[in-house]
Amino acid sequence: MASDDLIRLSAAELGAAIAAGETSSVDATRAYLDRIDAVEPDINAFLHVGRDSALEQARTADRRRADGEDLGPLAGVPIAHKDVFCTKDMPTTAASKILEGWQPPYDATVTARLRDAGLVILGKTNMDEFAMGSSTENSAYGATRNPWDTARVPGGSSGGSSAAVAAFEAPLATGTDTGGSIRQPAAVTGLVGAKPTYGGSSRYGVIAFASSLDTPGPFARTVLDAALLHEAFSGHDPRDSTSVDAPVPGVVEAARRADVQGLRVGVVKEFGGEGYQPGVTQRFQESVELLESLGAKVVEVSCPSFTSALAAYYLIAPSEASSNLARFDAMRYGLRVGDDGTRSAEEVMSLTRAKGFGPEVKRRIILGTYALSSGYYDAYYGSAQQVRTLIKRDFDAAFEHVDVLVSPTTPTTAFPIGERADDPMAMYLADLCTIPTNLAGNAALSVPCGLAPEDGLPVGLQIMAPALADDRTYRAGAAVEAALAERWGGPLLGTSAYAV
Ligand code: GLN
Repeated sequence: MASDDLIRLSAAELGAAIAAGETSSVDATRAYLDRIDAVEPDINAFLHVGRDSALEQARTADRRRADGEDLGPLAGVPIAHKDVFCTKDMPTTAASKILEGWQPPYDATVTARLRDAGLVILGKTNMDEFAMGSSTENSAYGATRNPWDTARVPGGSSGGSSAAVAAFEAPLATGTDTGGSIRQPAAVTGLVGAKPTYGGSSRYGVIAFASSLDTPGPFARTVLDAALLHEAFSGHDPRDSTSVDAPVPGVVEAARRADVQGLRVGVVKEFGGEGYQPGVTQRFQESVELLESLGAKVVEVSCPSFTSALAAYYLIAPSEASSNLARFDAMRYGLRVGDDGTRSAEEVMSLTRAKGFGPEVKRRIILGTYALSSGYYDAYYGSAQQVRTLIKRDFDAAFEHVDVLVSPTTPTTAFPIGERADDPMAMYLADLCTIPTNLAGNAALSVPCGLAPEDGLPVGLQIMAPALADDRTYRAGAAVEAALAERWGGPLLGTSAYAV
């Protein structure tokens, strides 16, 4: 098969073609590595590409297949990992100077499970430093560009992963979603991205940002591909104390089922109107009408506490981050500055942290330390936790009447690089619609629902479900995807400037 034909296949199709002997993992991996060489100067999605190790893993996958091993549907398929997942054969930096060149001695559970399933690691993708941001401009290694328009951001914090999949540099990628960092970049690059139920995917070996929110999840070009990846790395992990010991929701079956007949869909009243780009609102409303025409029962639902979610998140996430990032103390990992024999450990620590952390990370550490300080703890952190409970109650009340909730994934399409770089509030607003799901710990997915008429850029539809009902988001997402592909005569991504 020609290179372009190989990289145009979905991950499911590629896995099947490898299994049928129509192509090999080595050929597919080589095609993707060549594609990476060709487009990386424009996109900058990768912090590290492991050409030799990828080809070695591909040869192993082909040999395991030839030996008759019973391998999963994604065996031999290449993947890119967000640089927040520990990989024992590649550096892991979380896009921070403080971890420059650090090579972990072990694999994250997600990485290890996907290795066992025969997936081939192409490399590590760029991100906002320590996953703090919504544009990938906070990387210490330069911004990533959106393949739909290279003057714009690919979303964040998993923007390297979204750009890599959207530019056909990888068929699949992993990300982490703490406040929206999978769904938001997926939405603005025309991809499918899912935030699994909290605890449904293991945090072991994932560099921590906010431990009560961080959730590893999939990026893919199709809903079925996202489901296959979701299933491949999910499930109980005794190494993660917050891992859920429950069966993995039937996401693959749901993606194949792809129907919404009789599904009760709630439109979140609080997400829309003023501040939303008209083209985003238009495509969202059309998706709601589409769901109705496919047999869903649509009602409007009010979740009044969702309007306080952003404020609560920006106290809780920095609080947890300030504690998690204390481990970067110049003694145990990576960078060490000023250790010339004349300075105390405290001085070296302070010089290292001053030099190793970027401005947004420092802002979060200061904010979190302040919010947790004894005189303010109840007023800030305590109140934010109360809001969190109210949000959870809004979800619970809504899910008594509906099976899923829907909203736009983001208020606007991808914004120009630099536009919000000096305006943290504007940047934080990118996650307005995604944050409630993280605070409640339930499941959500973003699926492309068209291009905004005013700028021709992708819009995402967010589908939210109760905890451990991830399958509902896939079922509805796949139905929307199938109906739109029929309407458009093909996948949305096929119209991008970087389509192959
Ligand atoms: N943009 C949000 C933040 O900056 C969410 C990040 C994330 O989900 N990792 O915190």
